[in-house]
Amino acid sequence: MNLIENISLKPYNTFQIDVSAKYFLEFTNIDELEEILNSTVYKENKSLIIGGGSNLLLCKNFDGVILKNSIKGISIIKETENHIYVKANAGESWHEFVMYCIENNFAGVENLSLIPGCVGASPMQNIGAYGVEIKDVLHEVEALNIPTNQLEYFNNEDCKFGYRESIFKNTHKDKYIITSVVFCLNKKAILNISYGAIKDELAKKQIQNPNIKDISDAVIAIRSSKLPDPKILGNAGSFFKNPEIDEISFKEFHEANPTAPYYELTNNISEKQYKIPAGWLIEQCGWKGKVIGNTGSHKDQALVLVNYGNAEGEEIYQLALAIQQSVKEKFNITISPEVNIYR
Ligand code: FAD
Ligand code: NAP
Repeated sequence: MNLIENISLKPYNTFQIDVSAKYFLEFTNIDELEEILNSTVYKENKSLIIGGGSNLLLCKNFDGVILKNSIKGISIIKETENHIYVKANAGESWHEFVMYCIENNFAGVENLSLIPGCVGASPMQNIGAYGVEIKDVLHEVEALNIPTNQLEYFNNEDCKFGYRESIFKNTHKDKYIITSVVFCLNKKAILNISYGAIKDELAKKQIQNPNIKDISDAVIAIRSSKLPDPKILGNAGSFFKNPEIDEISFKEFHEANPTAPYYELTNNISEKQYKIPAGWLIEQCGWKGKVIGNTGSHKDQALVLVNYGNAEGEEIYQLALAIQQSVKEKFNITISPEVNIYR
């Protein structure tokens, strides 16, 4: 156990916020993790488990132990006629795992290319992009129950996945450390090109019969062209979730804003719901490209809040509150943060 004291967390969060942690412990296997959980320093302090730090906003120094999950390894555990079951340990980079799947022609995660962070955090908010979420391919999560120190297994249903939600982000938050995830991938690809940007990118390259590599390349090209690279400009991706509103609220919204984009949701058959892109709402309130002190809303993607250099977490948090309030005032719609805020 290599205990580091008073460490800057700037390299460990993609917002690049320069706060410090009292203690920092990295583990590369379950034995090391169990040793940490049995240690005095862990028992006597509060703790926070992190992967790539790409969905965190740290507003002050962390007066406890940061646990950095670095358990590596990818292995095939089972194969059937149509599927391949691949286990990825929690400390693997998500994008490298996607690249491994593309190289081996295992289909299902190609739309999720270039999402930062680690495999272990992917079930937390049921990561999603371009019409695919990990709930579509997730078979099982292995997680250490912190109070009992026992490994437990969660199947897809147990995870209670929703839009950017899971049991691990709600009732089980801070009670479990995810150690690995098993994905059920397809040997024969079922491609999802429902998002206009993917169709446009394939058309631009004149690809008529795409394979999973073509989809992955298209997603990488789109994302690289419009999202700021966190290594250059600190950010945590979309700061807010897209609001989902009921039919009555939608009618009112649509009448007042007939040109606003919207998507009818198909997952709730008993009650119609509509998704309104949060980026559009924020842009309409005049925030897109606006720089306020060391922070602001990105010029190409209003939903992404950025650190222009020396922003403090609290500064970004206050900007988020101001954006939230103006969207509420203009549209009577509440937008909720997707990023995990620690203040
Ligand atoms: P961290 O930020 O380290 O942690 C996030 C949360 O998970 C924290 O609450 C942490 O305590 C918890 N956690 C981390 N590891 C574990 C573990 N092993 N066990 C239990 N809890 C854990 N997200 C999307 O869904 N779709 C996107 O398209 C997308 N695009 C992005 C683009 C950019 C440029 C950036 C910066 C972010 C983007 N994100 C996106 C958000 C982010 O990348 C994902 O949410 C990612 O899964 C976070 O992984 P991480 O390892 O960095 O988690
Ligand atoms: P976009 O293509 O400009 O679209 C704006 C929003 O409209 C998206 O948020 C998306 O919702 C929704 N949308 C677009 N086409 C849709 C369709 N055919 N059906 C249903 N909903 C549709 O979005 P973008 O900002 O460039 O992002 C592209 C994708 O990457 C999105 O899926 C987005 O979620 C994901 N992304 C996520 C993050 C993050 O940090 N979470 C960061 C960057 C990109 P959804 O968001 O629900 O898909």
